[in-house]
Amino acid sequence: MNQRVLSGSDLAERARRAIPGGVNSGQRSIPGLTDLVITEADGARFRDADGREYVDYHAAFGPPLLGHNDPDVSAAVAEAGRTVDLCGVGVTTAEVELAEALVELVPSVEKVLLTSTGSEATFHALRVARAATGRRLVVKFQGCYHGWHDAVSLNVISAPERVGARDPISAGILPEVLEATLVLRFNDAEGVRAAFAEYGRDIAAVIVEPVPHNVGCLLPEREFLRTLRDECTRAGSVLIFDEVISGFRHDLGGWQAISGITPDLTTMGKAIANGYPVGALGGRADLMELFSSRPGGSVFFAGTYNGHPAVVAAALATLRKIRTEPVHEHVFRLGDRIRTGLSEVFAGLGLPAVVTGYGSVFVAYFMTGPARTYDDLLRNDASMFVGYRRRLLGHGVFELPLNLKRSHVSYAHTETDVDRLLEAAAAAARAQL
Ligand code: PLP
Repeated sequence: MNQRVLSGSDLAERARRAIPGGVNSGQRSIPGLTDLVITEADGARFRDADGREYVDYHAAFGPPLLGHNDPDVSAAVAEAGRTVDLCGVGVTTAEVELAEALVELVPSVEKVLLTSTGSEATFHALRVARAATGRRLVVKFQGCYHGWHDAVSLNVISAPERVGARDPISAGILPEVLEATLVLRFNDAEGVRAAFAEYGRDIAAVIVEPVPHNVGCLLPEREFLRTLRDECTRAGSVLIFDEVISGFRHDLGGWQAISGITPDLTTMGKAIANGYPVGALGGRADLMELFSSRPGGSVFFAGTYNGHPAVVAAALATLRKIRTEPVHEHVFRLGDRIRTGLSEVFAGLGLPAVVTGYGSVFVAYFMTGPARTYDDLLRNDASMFVGYRRRLLGHGVFELPLNLKRSHVSYAHTETDVDRLLEAAAAAARAQL
C-alpha cells in the first residue's frame, strides 16, 4: 500500500490542532516558519520534514555547545539509562561528582543545587535572597531575560515607548509583583548608584545577565559590574549573576571568572548539559544552607526531576569534554572568524552594521554607532535584521529570524561551515540593498 509522506505543512497543521500555536514555547512561534517540523539533528545541522537541511547557528537558544547529539554525551546518557534511574530519594554518585565539579569551577559557588530549568534556578535565587534579607524589592535590567516567572517577567525586549516604564511580557501577573521589581539600565553605573541611594534598604537582590545575550550581546563595562558588586555589598543586598547563557559557553568559570567580579549567587543552565534539561543555583554557603534540602532549612526547595540521572550524566560528559578537548579554542576561533568576516561583508557592501558578540556568540545589528546599552539597540533596523536572516534560510543557514536574537557556533561547526555562512551572508546582504 502506498503511504503518503507527510509534508511539513501537514504535520504542522496536526500540531496546531493539538498544541496551541503548534509549538511548545512562545519563543518557537516564528512568523514565516510556522510549518517548520524538525525531523533530525546532529552536529552542526538539523533537517526538516520537507527534506531541507540547515547549518544551525540558532542552537536551540544556546545549550548544544558541543553540537547536536554529541556522541560522548549521548553515550553517557545511554549508560546512565542502563545503570540507574530516577529514584527520588537520596543522591547518586554522579550528582555528587557534578556538584563537586561546579564548586571547583565557578568562583562564587561554595554549594550548589540542581533544577531542571534556568527559570527554576532564578526563581529560587530570588526567593532565597528575599528570605535572607527580609526585603521586598528586586532589581533587574532592561533587556535581560531570566525565565518565565512573575518577578522577572518584564522589560526584556521592549518597544521604545515602554523603555523606562514597567513592561510585562505576560498577562496574568499581579501588579504588586511587578511593582516589587525595579528596572534599571544596563551599563548605567550612575543609575545603579541612584537606585541604591533611594531604595537600598529595601533591595533584596540584583539579578543580571553579566552579558545580556537575550538582546544579542551587550558587553558589560567593568565599572558597571564593579558598581553592582560594591552597592550590593554596602546595602546588604544579594548579587545574582544569571549565567544561564554565559556559564560554560564563555568560560568554565562563567563571566565571573573572566571579569574577576564574584556574585553572591549564580544561576546556570543550558551549556552545562549540552541540551539536556538542566539548571543549577549555587553560591555563598550561608545562603545555600537556607534551602530545605538541608533539614531545618526554611526556604522550600523541591523538584521531581532535579538531578535526573540522564541529565547529570550529560552534564558530566559535557564538562569532561570541555576540560579535555580544545572546545573553547575552537568555538572562539570560529566566532572571531565569523565576526571579522561578517564585518568585512557588510562594510564591503556599504551596509550599516555593527557585528559584535563574544567567543562563540555573534550577532549583526543593522545600525551604526555603539552597542553598549539597550537604548542603543533601538537604532537597529528590525525589518532588516529579520529580513537578512530570512534570506539566509534560503541558503541553508539558520539564524533565528527574530529581532535581536544572538547566534552560536559549536564545537561541531567547521571552517567550511563558516565559509558557507559568510557566502550566504554576502548573498543575503546584497539582496537587502
Ligand atoms: N536566564 C537566562 C539568561 C536565559 O537566557 C534563560 C533562557 O533563555 C533563562 C534564564 C531561563 O532558562 P530556561 O529556559 O531553562 O527556564
